[in-house]
Amino acid sequence: MEKYKLLDLPYGYKDLEPYISEEVLTLHHDKHHAAYVNAANVLLDKIADARKNNTELDYKAVAKALSFNVGGHILHEKFWENMASHSAEASRGKPAGKLAEAIEKEFGSFERFKTVFSETAKSVEGSGWAVLTKDLLIMQIEKHNVNLLPEQKILLCLDVWEHAYYLDYKNDRAKFIENWWNIVDWNEVEKRYIS
Ligand code: MN
Repeated sequence: MEKYKLLDLPYGYKDLEPYISEEVLTLHHDKHHAAYVNAANVLLDKIADARKNNTELDYKAVAKALSFNVGGHILHEKFWENMASHSAEASRGKPAGKLAEAIEKEFGSFERFKTVFSETAKSVEGSGWAVLTKDLLIMQIEKHNVNLLPEQKILLCLDVWEHAYYLDYKNDRAKFIENWWNIVDWNEVEKRYIS
């Protein structure tokens, strides 16, 4: 089985400031995301070992932990990639082209879409994510691994675990969400939409 790898961020640790601080981005990527990758790889070793030696595992626990950690790894990769430095052309504040048309058709306006996505993110219970899928549904993910319908392609995701914002915004998740719109990489979201 091939191991999971923690890739470098597609930008510098300071590049999402002032919306996400260097400290938060560094901890989030180098500690939290790294921990999911490491835990997933430990599980892969366990599974490989059990297969090789024909031994039993606690299958329920392994499946649950694998889904949690691999889910976390995949979501964080998508999250890093759907953000860009505030000064980048990609973070131009709104989508263009086919995606812009589709959002307008579904939601009436881009502003309305933003409100629905923000409200969805705000109302995630505890730790989780807000996600926009290719057929323009907005969903929540609890922790890393439930609620998203299978086969739904993720266009845009936002991590609202406390580790994503607490040091910068304390308990003000709404402010984090509001500021986060400044660093969405719409080029990347459009690319996911048309591919
Ligand atoms: Mn996270």
